[in-house]
Amino acid sequence: MTSVTVRAPAKINLGLSVGGPRADGFHDVATAYHAISLQDELVAAASEELSIALTTADGIPLDDVPQDRSNLAVAAALALAERAGVEPLVRLHVTKSIPVAGGMAGGSADAAAALVACDALWQTGLSRSELAELAAALGSDVPFSLVGGTALGTGRGEVLTPVLARGRFHWVVAIADGGLSTPDVYAECDRLRGGTPVPEPRVADALMAALRTGDADALGASLHNDLQAAACSLRPSLRETLETGAQAGALGSLVSGSGPSVVFLARSPEHAIDIAVALSATGTCRSVRRAHGPVAGARVVGDG
Ligand code: ATP
Repeated sequence: MTSVTVRAPAKINLGLSVGGPRADGFHDVATAYHAISLQDELVAAASEELSIALTTADGIPLDDVPQDRSNLAVAAALALAERAGVEPLVRLHVTKSIPVAGGMAGGSADAAAALVACDALWQTGLSRSELAELAAALGSDVPFSLVGGTALGTGRGEVLTPVLARGRFHWVVAIADGGLSTPDVYAECDRLRGGTPVPEPRVADALMAALRTGDADALGASLHNDLQAAACSLRPSLRETLETGAQAGALGSLVSGSGPSVVFLARSPEHAIDIAVALSATGTCRSVRRAHGPVAGARVVGDG
């Protein structure tokens, strides 16, 4: 085998409850992660040295994303090689569909994809739980990008518990021009809270019940993100995007993670088209994508 192709999904947080700042600067969260069919594709090919290239689906190079070991896919390949005791001789190519710094864990998806692809290429023989351990060390969202589906995340988000979820949900993603820095959004959240005591983070029972029954109306009504006010404060145009989707009859809407991507829940694939058309017509965002969830985590889709 000289090359392996892996796809990894974007995540949205159906509920994101954020605690106060911890001593280490992180925040404890309780979140219902949901993997959707907006995916990055990574090809790992045997090579004389470690390298990475990132392009859009149209083949346009993404020069604003780091290409050194601070790229999460490179960091993942290096961590796996060290753990498995092999040389990290691999050329990575990422075709990005997940917006960069969009609050949809695109970097984490690439890290999970690199772990799965290099694991197959190098035939490391590591167990799934050993890969999950490497994933948690790479970033809070990477373990979820490995497993996908719908799951509860606690701690920094890296402690996962499976969620009993029924049904398939239809989403519209409004991708904003430019990203938001995750640390900046958490800092703004702390600033807006003004030092008032913050309760233990917790995902609402109504949200968990909606997932158990697969009830899209109930899910739409219980979507919640504690970071939404902070993201809207830093990027006020998001309020207009949210309003446009609401007027188009979305069952629910929310800023995804730390933003600035905004997601809308539709009743059906046809309804998703209506919402997407309304969003495109108002020009409040750079692009609009439709997706469904839940989908699987990082997985091999081809080798050669
Ligand atoms: P977070 O997981 O912190 O919520 P996000 O989903 O908002 O992040 P990402 O697309 O993961 O956003 O990118 C966050 C930052 O990580 C980018 O600004 C970029 O500099 C860096 N980064 C490192 N590796 C990657 C990668 N493979 N793809 C995209 N960004 C990456």
